[in-house]
Amino acid sequence: MTKTTTAKTPKIENLDVKEALLAERYPERGIVPGSLLPADFEGNPFPGKQTLEITCCEPGCGETRRIATQDLFQVSRCEACTKAAKRAKKNAGKAPRKAAIGKLTEEERDAIRALREEIEILKGGRLIAEKAAHREGEMAEASFEFELKSEEARIEREAREDELAGV
Ligand SMILES: [Zn+2]
Repeated sequence: MTKTTTAKTPKIENLDVKEALLAERYPERGIVPGSLLPADFEGNPFPGKQTLEITCCEPGCGETRRIATQDLFQVSRCEACTKAAKRAKKNAGKAPRKAAIGKLTEEERDAIRALREEIEILKGGRLIAEKAAHREGEMAEASFEFELKSEEARIEREAREDELAGV
């Protein structure tokens, strides 16, 4: 942070020089001549900072705005145009899709709606199918176990029969 300079308030000549230098450095800002004010002027909206007025860059606006000199590099619009620009930027991303949907015929919209419904049904169907497959798998495993046990039992029985027959 810069030191406070309450003891040495910049002289008006210095402000004029500074304003001229800033105007040279930021010609596109349309700095209003004589608008640079010292940091300690009464009612300063940016306490402790020198301020000046710029002319809004939006064509046909012409509104002026008082800003801190430190913000010169990033502020080029009046407040209303800044808000409008932000809104426009926010909406720019949504515009293509919205425009594309807007161009669809009623038939195409119906087709999309039907597709969405179909997808929902398929999703539901897949869930049922997965559950059924799982159940089938369990049953297949159970029946395999059963067969295995029966087979073992059969072998055991045959072995015992052979034993009894004295083979
Ligand atoms: Zn403006």
